[in-house]
Amino acid sequence: AHLDRVAAVDGAVEAFLHVDEEAVLAQARRVDERLAAGEELGPLAGVPIAHKDVFTTTDMPTTAGSRILEGWRPPYDATVTARLRAAGLVILGKTNMDEFAMGSSTENSAYQVTHNPWDLGRIPGGSSGGSSAAVAAYEAPLATGTDTGGSIRQPAAVTGIVGAKPTYGGSSRYGLIAFASSLDTPGPFARNVLDAALLHEAFSGHDRMDSTSIDKPVPPVVRAARRADVAGLRIGVVKEFGGEGYQPGVLDRFNEAVELLESLGAKVVEVSCPNFTYALPAYYLIAPSECSSNLARFDAMRYGLRVGDDGTRSAEEVMALTRAEGFGAEVKRRIMLGTYALSSGYYDAYYGKAQQIRTLISRDFDAAFEQVDALVSPTTPTTAFPIGERADDPMAMYLADLCTIPANLAGNAAISVPCGLAGEDGLPVGLQIMAPVLGDDRVYRVGAAVER
Ligand code: GLN
Repeated sequence: AHLDRVAAVDGAVEAFLHVDEEAVLAQARRVDERLAAGEELGPLAGVPIAHKDVFTTTDMPTTAGSRILEGWRPPYDATVTARLRAAGLVILGKTNMDEFAMGSSTENSAYQVTHNPWDLGRIPGGSSGGSSAAVAAYEAPLATGTDTGGSIRQPAAVTGIVGAKPTYGGSSRYGLIAFASSLDTPGPFARNVLDAALLHEAFSGHDRMDSTSIDKPVPPVVRAARRADVAGLRIGVVKEFGGEGYQPGVLDRFNEAVELLESLGAKVVEVSCPNFTYALPAYYLIAPSECSSNLARFDAMRYGLRVGDDGTRSAEEVMALTRAEGFGAEVKRRIMLGTYALSSGYYDAYYGKAQQIRTLISRDFDAAFEQVDALVSPTTPTTAFPIGERADDPMAMYLADLCTIPANLAGNAAISVPCGLAGEDGLPVGLQIMAPVLGDDRVYRVGAAVER
């Protein structure tokens, strides 16, 4: 049924980069065999899933949305991929994304522009916009994403679905093509909080192949999603988020969600996190710095594309030609910014300062969580914007991440759940819920209580 749905609507939505019908049916048959043999596969056995093209897959291409990886077949499965397979999920295909996960609209993909199923003229968010669109368009009930600066929560918000960013280190980065390694976090997309929790549990947990993986039990997110109550919880509204630059309808839906929390028995207070104001500039130094280092591995020798290797050029010239042609404009912008910020003489002024801000943001969270159990804010300042509107204006694009970035810099658990529609066209609005590091169960519990 899902393959039929993909065939019917993906020509218009363009969520998938790769779907191989035969391979999908073969996986489904294999799950049947395992179940027939008495294997215990858990609650998601046989459920189809759309997989972000940033996770390596041995049986499908993996491009990270970049020309530089065109045609590359990974020699190993990412841990997330392997755990999906172990749980009997059927991988429908690989989804479109901003190149190397840099962007908030999926317009930075080297391959295609994905359309928001609510209005095909609008963006589905990014960088995991192929995954959010696939779930919103009923092409898949579940999808994977990665959240480095909001790339699960923001696309979930603007397509009216649920998307969670687990605690950093709670889900494995092994086989996830690196963007900013101290921030990258795999997480789930689904159409309701309980489904997201089931997927979260299926692929999370310690992995010895990832040196920053947390060696502790996965927080009980499924139990929390089933519990779905907020009675007696203290909820903090982040004072710094919700002023200028927010679409009025977004704030209306947010305020209604806060009233709903109160009516369900939560005690709501305003909490100030003064350093959150600096999160966006700090992130846009730290993430490019890490990316400039991570993307050095695309040297024309190891993977995919190689340009100008005709026997007359040096290895250095081939490398330069390949990177010039293989990387898109946003990726080049980030590599240049990051290389500059890390250069000797500038390190202390830029990267060092950004790291200090990161510490201050963690302290804001610590102070807030002495007063409240969870924090809430709008997920994004606006609903989905029109395709093309911000494509040539990086600063406007970066503003989409205003509310999501603090949780990345501090590593906290966070989720976005639908909280209604806004604007003349009735486009989805997301409510963001944040909890402490390893407090993932709390965001699912609150999210399940208020999701619409
Ligand atoms: N939009 C942010 C960026 O461009 C976040 C991306 C992400 O979370 N992968 O960096």
